[in-house]
Amino acid sequence: MKKIAIFASGTGTNAERIIDYFASSDRVKVALLLSNNPTAGALDRARSRGVPCRVFTREELHDGRIAGLLLRERIDLVVLAGFLWLIPPSMTEAFDGRIVNIHPSLLPAYGGKGMYGARVHRAVVEAGERESGITVHLVNDRYDSGAVIARYRVALSPDETPESLERKIHRLEYLHYPPIIERLAMGAPSVSDNPTLLPDMKLLLISNSTNAGEPYLQYPMPEIARTLEGVGEVVFVPYAAVTFSYDEYEAKVRARFEQIGVRVRSVHRCPNPAQAVCEAEAICVGGGNTFALVKHMQEQGLMEAIREKVLSGTPYVGWSAGSNVACPTLCTTNDMPIVEPESFRTIGLVGFQINPHYLDANPEGHAGETREQRILEFIEANPDRYVVGLREGCMLRVEEGRMELIGKRPMRLFRKGEPIRELSAGDDLSFLM
Ligand code: ASP
Repeated sequence: MKKIAIFASGTGTNAERIIDYFASSDRVKVALLLSNNPTAGALDRARSRGVPCRVFTREELHDGRIAGLLLRERIDLVVLAGFLWLIPPSMTEAFDGRIVNIHPSLLPAYGGKGMYGARVHRAVVEAGERESGITVHLVNDRYDSGAVIARYRVALSPDETPESLERKIHRLEYLHYPPIIERLAMGAPSVSDNPTLLPDMKLLLISNSTNAGEPYLQYPMPEIARTLEGVGEVVFVPYAAVTFSYDEYEAKVRARFEQIGVRVRSVHRCPNPAQAVCEAEAICVGGGNTFALVKHMQEQGLMEAIREKVLSGTPYVGWSAGSNVACPTLCTTNDMPIVEPESFRTIGLVGFQINPHYLDANPEGHAGETREQRILEFIEANPDRYVVGLREGCMLRVEEGRMELIGKRPMRLFRKGEPIRELSAGDDLSFLM
């Protein structure tokens, strides 16, 4: 078990997310939360979650007492989450390459002394920037100048305010910081003396495998080929199949992928599916019944395995249920709960929900809920989540920290308190990431 210590000076929302993320992890444990500020909200959040806390003085930080404590506690990684003091040499020497920070801008822009929290967002908005983001970096003894590990971007809208930008940035932080911490704590190469950039995720999330009247997987094939460029074999997850066998599913996908020169190996034939995922060149998750898919993926530990693998740069292609499981939960599926998974939680590669096969039509004389009504119910109960209604024939591509819609039809975007929006290919969707 790897141990991390969090340093926080403020309200501690990032610290809270990190603690919750690792609450049930058997690989990484938040062993300690430290603060220079005895009234920091972070301390309450940590205590209420059973994480031991320690308040320290500037002197203790500088004279090596805190570094000594962390060494005795065998801390593997020090995580700064809204910690405002400069980290002194006593710490950077003891934890060389093992202190990580998150900064709410695209460093080196808007970094340095005095640039933190709301001040950064105000400066970015006042300067009329069109994009901002977060930077995760290693810490040395100068503000915001250690090696960059990862950056994620958001676009600013014309009417952006510092407050709305702050909310966007928080979403990015909550989504990306914990998995990066996990990677670093587990000893990813970027913690060594030569930190490398974490590869960005490469995702292709397809609404439906097949358009009416077309051959299987025909329309998305050019995009699949592009996403799988250079890949010899994909590891395929067939668990959404219910009325036909996994063998049949594998054969069907194999026949199609053969045409682009990619071999298909289904996890149902692997003695250890999670291990197969760990060794995969690319991962492909097919559609069918989402509940059956989620149940079997959870039973095999595939949610975590795929998440970690894809965050380290392995391409992911999903269609229908396979796109839905890339979201935080399965809650916007169209399927019936024919089996009961352990929970609704899915891989969480993106921070929003997808409703695949999004349908506008409501047959004449039909009194059941429309798709729109069902999604409006979802956002009522989940006010922080965006939902993308992904119409048939469309897909989302995530690459190099950006997301775009591919397809001739717009997607519908739902969020509580906001008007429903139609977004088309070419529109910047990075605010959703
Ligand atoms: N059953 C769909 C699929 O093809 C998923 C959905 O409609 O939510 O995977």
